[in-house]
Amino acid sequence: MSDATVRNVIVIGSGPAGHTAAIYAARANLKPLMIEGLARGGIPGGQLMITNDVENYPGFPEKITGPDLMKAFREQSVAQGVEIVTDDVVAVDLSRRPFTVWVGDERSPHTARTLIVATGAQAKWLGLESERALQGKGVSACAVCDGAFFRNQDVIVVGGGDTAMEEATYLSGLCRSVTLVHRREAFRASKTMQERVLKNPKIKTLYNAVVEEVLDVERGEVTGARVRNVNTHETMVVPATGFFVAIGHTPNTDLFAGKLELHDNGYIKTRPGSTYTNVPGVFACGDVQDFTYRQAVTAAGSGCMAALDAERWMAANDPH
Ligand code: NAP
Repeated sequence: MSDATVRNVIVIGSGPAGHTAAIYAARANLKPLMIEGLARGGIPGGQLMITNDVENYPGFPEKITGPDLMKAFREQSVAQGVEIVTDDVVAVDLSRRPFTVWVGDERSPHTARTLIVATGAQAKWLGLESERALQGKGVSACAVCDGAFFRNQDVIVVGGGDTAMEEATYLSGLCRSVTLVHRREAFRASKTMQERVLKNPKIKTLYNAVVEEVLDVERGEVTGARVRNVNTHETMVVPATGFFVAIGHTPNTDLFAGKLELHDNGYIKTRPGSTYTNVPGVFACGDVQDFTYRQAVTAAGSGCMAALDAERWMAANDPH
């Protein structure tokens, strides 16, 4: 393989982490190639593409929509000279260097000295038609992103894990009431987080309850949810203007299973305080390696770290 065809850096993924990594790599004259994705793992631009207004990304005192923010990220990447391929990575070989990346149905693979994995994660949804229809109209999977739109209103949170406890607790600081709907009679969440929820007078819990329908699709806004008790089969309507699904996220790591070290929950393991994975020359940033903060701004920050880590690693290990 001629050295000229080997890239310095390939960035896989195009959310805030991927674009920040690409912008920094481009400014370091590493001529990065970004594979922004197409359908696998969501949509190009990542989870912000399904977020309405973003009011907590610093620098935008007038709120900006998620898609507009990602458009600006992409334009900045292009302005800095990042080459972008709009297709999905279908396979990677990390067993030897340069690393190999196969994209879509392209005949020849791409090769690179370093890889930055920024493939993100996807929120899990209940899978109801009404939930899909009302996404961005009161249905959300991120309390920190959207909670402020429901100040002093009644909201529902679905789930029984740590994420649901965290979302319910966060929303209780903003909303008039939070109804936490869980499908079983016991939460899965850690004891401490459960206790925080159970002690909170603003949070009401409904156990053994499944959501049958988010109301009201015809009105185009959330007015509540029809919930069924799994034991008695009785249904009731819980009135609310916000509906938060907090049943977990799935990291987009299927490409890397068996190739990179992953946590038990499927997220990529990175060395604390860095973006180093267990494979020298492969770096991971953003939600694909973060199940704690999961914010656009933390993803962008770790994207910057990945570009700096890749640049310094190359200078030390693979100068050319
Ligand atoms: P999780 O632990 O997998 O919990 C998901 C919850 O959603 C479970 O209670 C599950 O019910 C419920 N659920 C799943 N699918 C459902 C469906 N289709 N309909 C209704 N309910 C459904 O996910 P997570 O809460 O996102 O946590 C993921 C990991 O991140 C965990 O390791 C957690 O400890 C960690 N985390 C930590 C923190 C923190 O420490 N601050 C915060 C957030 C997350 P069942 O219980 O019946 O399965």
